[in-house]
Amino acid sequence: MTENDSHLRYTGGMFFTATSSRKLLSRILASSALGLSLLASAQDRVLNIYSARHYPSDEALYSDFTRSTGIKVHRIDADDAGILARLRAEGTASPADVILLVDAARLLRAEADGLFKPIKSPALENAIPATLRAKASAEGTAWFGLSTRARVIVYNKARLQATDVDTYEKLGDSKLRGQLCMRSGSHPYNLSLFGAMMEHLGPQKTQVWLKALVDNMARSPKGGDTDQIRAVAAGECTVAVSNTYYLARLMRSEQAADKAVVGKLGVVFPNQASTGTHVNIAGGAVARHAKNPDNAIRFLEYLASPSAQNHFANGNNEWPAARGVTLENPALKAMGGGSFKSETVPVSTLGMNQVAVQQMLDRVGFR
Ligand code: FE
Repeated sequence: MTENDSHLRYTGGMFFTATSSRKLLSRILASSALGLSLLASAQDRVLNIYSARHYPSDEALYSDFTRSTGIKVHRIDADDAGILARLRAEGTASPADVILLVDAARLLRAEADGLFKPIKSPALENAIPATLRAKASAEGTAWFGLSTRARVIVYNKARLQATDVDTYEKLGDSKLRGQLCMRSGSHPYNLSLFGAMMEHLGPQKTQVWLKALVDNMARSPKGGDTDQIRAVAAGECTVAVSNTYYLARLMRSEQAADKAVVGKLGVVFPNQASTGTHVNIAGGAVARHAKNPDNAIRFLEYLASPSAQNHFANGNNEWPAARGVTLENPALKAMGGGSFKSETVPVSTLGMNQVAVQQMLDRVGFR
């Protein structure tokens, strides 16, 4: 599955057949105490996940969880927007137990829309810093960040110096006319970055900056972050914006073509002398109408465990969200091992700015 796929996909076999059989089974069994206990034990072994994580390396996480708990995982993959739309449409009938999203603003949107069931989990509260989870209410915490990724600037070393592009603001410099490659402005990764810029610059300057980005584009936005990186190496543009894990994936690739791409690139963690580099999170939550809430909590706790956190770092090149996890990933170490200055804009703000940012994008023609 590519990072641009937005359609729904079933990975757990006969998902709906299994669901409707369970409904039938529940009607038959619900009439007796024995039936109820049998049903409970059947539910004990299943977990339904809606995931916006589009990383093949995650398969190891699911199989490891099933191996250690005996709980079978059914998964539906879609992008963040597709998952949220599906949850709204399904309402109380939704079979979803766990929701995994890859953007802070989307997590907040879903929380605000009441799509999550707040939980109390000392294991998660101990592992995940308060800055990387939802604000707790009396009911509990609605979502937990599980990994982080930085949005960095990648440039062609033969054409530019690091100082030409060491801030997000400089991407709008007229010196870079016709040289910038970026994915769609409406993609969650960019909406969150632009929402953070709105905090730093204010709305008027942000719109001027976005217009300057459009003016500097080498081509209309298309593809994912990796496509922008490849276009920089190929000379179609000199500079692009990418999440760190796409870059790290190329840095760790054994393919000669990928090594050639990486050899041409310089990487900048932007705004180190000012507001810091934009950081986003991927996170998880229990679905509001979860039918297997205990399994859902168990799965989220598993994702915050050292072995799963290590997998985020080594399997998908993300920085762990949990405290005290040692990084073994050579590409992440080469990028400074997470020692860069990151911005301090609260993730809740990124979500609140999204509508205003989308309106600006429409006004300046940033597709
Ligand atoms: Fe991604």
